[in-house]
Amino acid sequence: MTTSTSKKNSQEYINLENQHGAHNYHPLPVVLSKGEGVYVWDVSGKRYYDFLSAYSAVNQGHCHPRIVETLKQQAETLTLTSRAFYNDVLGPFEKYITEYFGFDKVLPMNTGAEAVETAIKICRKWGYEKKGVEENKGQIVVFDQNFHGRTTTIISFSSDPDAKRNFGPYTHGFIKVTYNDLDALKEVFEDNKNIVGVLVEPIQGEAGVMVPGESFLKNVAKICKEHNALFMADEIQTGIGRTGSLLAVCGNCTCSGHCEQQSTYIKPDLLILGKALSGGGYPVSAVLADNPIMEVITPGTHGSTFGGNPLGAKVAMTALEVIRDEKLTQNARKLGKIFRTRMEKLIEKTELICLVRGKGLLNAIVINDHPDSSTAWDICVALSENGLLAKPTHGNIIRFAPPLVMDEEQLHECCDIIEKTILNFKQKA
Ligand SMILES: *Cc1c(COP(=O)(O)O)cnc(C)c1O
Repeated sequence: MTTSTSKKNSQEYINLENQHGAHNYHPLPVVLSKGEGVYVWDVSGKRYYDFLSAYSAVNQGHCHPRIVETLKQQAETLTLTSRAFYNDVLGPFEKYITEYFGFDKVLPMNTGAEAVETAIKICRKWGYEKKGVEENKGQIVVFDQNFHGRTTTIISFSSDPDAKRNFGPYTHGFIKVTYNDLDALKEVFEDNKNIVGVLVEPIQGEAGVMVPGESFLKNVAKICKEHNALFMADEIQTGIGRTGSLLAVCGNCTCSGHCEQQSTYIKPDLLILGKALSGGGYPVSAVLADNPIMEVITPGTHGSTFGGNPLGAKVAMTALEVIRDEKLTQNARKLGKIFRTRMEKLIEKTELICLVRGKGLLNAIVINDHPDSSTAWDICVALSENGLLAKPTHGNIIRFAPPLVMDEEQLHECCDIIEKTILNFKQKA
């Protein structure tokens, strides 16, 4: 295939999306048609390293053979029963995931936003039925610059004007405080008996990989406990190995399953998972909690036609097995250190990047330009030309989050691509 026809091919697909799809995204001009492990290929056959991993939904790598095999087998056997009946996969999945993460119970849903909605509903109901807050008075604390999804309730407490503007009227009952500011958090709890929970991202991914101070999460949990409010961890992006521990709330523990290392583990009252629970194959999300909390959910109070379907349940189980069997958590931790060391060396050689931050394989570099400039976007376009796909977030920040199945040699090759691209980059006037 010649370059000109392949270019035309890509443009044709882009035109189709532009003409027939809602313009709710602004993709890089790359049209992908195949994926395997850490690689994706475009329609002309050009290979790229994927440094976004579908926002951390493909931690296990593209088209992982075990996950694909599970999908195929279960798709040929039983895909959907609804929860009107039992099926022979949901129970084993529920046992597996609750033991894996150390909770009594799980409530399975499909997408991340649905799981966040589920956690909010459980938290409010718990507040009225267990904590004794007067009905409709419950409040949930959230953080500035949060990202928890796109439903009407969730965008009601977003700080992003694009996500929020003209989608009102908004859902009440949320108090926003500055991320990583414990005094601000303590202050809102003072004289407020109606707070039923705190919803937090252990690292703010969409905000630009904002890593809070060492003791922040521990103290959020402590404040919640003192005030009898639920500590809700949204680990949709940070969980399942991404940050070099099974969950970001596991701190520095590297074990590949649940443990309660008192020194670092902070057990959330409600744990919210999504993205990589899918193994990149089939959307599955979940909320985990212990009995005293989950028991507020009774027949008819919450549900989803597809939540807990046998296809998703089977895929999620395999997705978690792959994380454990291939030691992807440990690999993320090891490679993350190498990545940040390489980026720090690069920062010494260029004015274009001013900072690298992150944990495990959830990292970002900050471009030394105004957030409204197109520099980060232009760098991402140049990176794609050199065979590496990444996307800017919040203007001048580029997130780097490859699949966790990457090996050390590949990572160094990727760092070479980033280095070469940055050092050769000519800023537009
Ligand atoms: C992606 C994400 C969500 C939303 O998940 P969807 O599957 O897109 O609905 C919620 N919270 C966090 C932290 C996320 O990164």
